[in-house]
Amino acid sequence: MENYDVVIVGAGPAGLRCAEKLAKSDKTVLLLEKNEVVGPKVCGGGLPNIDLERFNIPDELLEKRYKAMTIHSPFFQNEIRSDNEFLYTIDRKKFGQWQLGKIDKNKVKIRINTRVTEIQKDYVVLGTEEKIGFKYLIGADGANSIVRKYLGLKIEKFCVAIQYIIPSDEYDKLEFFFDPKLFNSWYAWIFPRKDFVSIGCGCNTNMLSAKKLRENFNLWLEKNKIDVSSGEYQAYTINYDYQGYKFENIFLAGESAGLVSGLTGEGIHSALTSGEEVAKSILDENYNSEKIAKIAKIGDRHTKILNFLDKLGIFRNVMLGFISIILKSSKLQKIINKKLFH
Ligand SMILES: Cc1cc2nc3c(=O)[nH]c(=O)nc-3n(C[C@H](O)[C@H](O)[C@H](O)COP(=O)(O)OP(=O)(O)OC[C@H]3O[C@@H](n4cnc5c(N)ncnc54)[C@H](O)[C@@H]3O)c2cc1C
Repeated sequence: MENYDVVIVGAGPAGLRCAEKLAKSDKTVLLLEKNEVVGPKVCGGGLPNIDLERFNIPDELLEKRYKAMTIHSPFFQNEIRSDNEFLYTIDRKKFGQWQLGKIDKNKVKIRINTRVTEIQKDYVVLGTEEKIGFKYLIGADGANSIVRKYLGLKIEKFCVAIQYIIPSDEYDKLEFFFDPKLFNSWYAWIFPRKDFVSIGCGCNTNMLSAKKLRENFNLWLEKNKIDVSSGEYQAYTINYDYQGYKFENIFLAGESAGLVSGLTGEGIHSALTSGEEVAKSILDENYNSEKIAKIAKIGDRHTKILNFLDKLGIFRNVMLGFISIILKSSKLQKIINKKLFH
């Protein structure tokens, strides 16, 4: 049986960032990815401006840049403008390949097309029979993590997000549509990207089943006279149930740990940060990540907002109207951004 100091399951933003950082140590590292190509994932590819500097993301990876968004609800429509660009989009395949290129391949062995099918105390099984031993195991394997399942951590805060990817340049505004009758406290979006537009919606599965969400989405498309017949349908889950990242010699990073916002669905930032923080935790046993604690705290606030909006019932529209008016003030935007986002 081959043995490594560290085995990382999953080459998404979390696993790739973790591998990049561990490559600078003397640990032997194996990174495993079930897909043939590193990068592609059902995702909006939206990144907040704070990430660019923090992760040295080069300009050429950025596609669209947003300074404004429009919020619709049954009773109002508001355009919220910011002084600065606050959101960028990236292509997940290009982003994954860029991250992959930053890993020192002399230090990290990378195996693609290799699925982890079973986990035991000190080894993982690849495919049907190959065993690989580890001292440390990192679950960076996303929303349906096999490593998380091995740890016995249930997922109770869970969303389904669906989208149509439509080749079109007909849309140029970032738009969110709150329609509590159809999406509870979640929403639908129109998110123009470089050569296509993503039109989608999401909701917590405790509130709406995936089937019901799709039916409601079809109603919403009809109501807004949006034709998605030329689009590719995609659906994926979002796990925002954080219960810790360190479990003796097993670590969880990114979405496997539930480090995603249940309110906005944003998870790339947390995946990059937690991937790096897990690497630090392995290199120093006494390291306790304040950054992960902060992401978890913000995630918790987002979940509280969702729960609050749910409880408001028929008054939810009034509250959404109030929030969108507050967001028009750039001073209040800054305060809310600081308290609720980064
Ligand atoms: C519709 C939708 C829109 C979204 N939009 C945004 C957005 O605009 N901005 C944003 O920040 N976030 C967004 N997200 C969330 C974001 O996509 C994720 O939070 C982010 O990709 C998490 O990164 P990760 O590295 O933790 O996991 P992933 O990116 O999911 O990577 C996990 C990797 O592990 C691999 N893997 C899984 N199981 C195994 C196994 N058994 N063996 C080997 N490999 C395995 C997978 O193939 C994958 O490559 C969106 C999500 C959805 C569903």
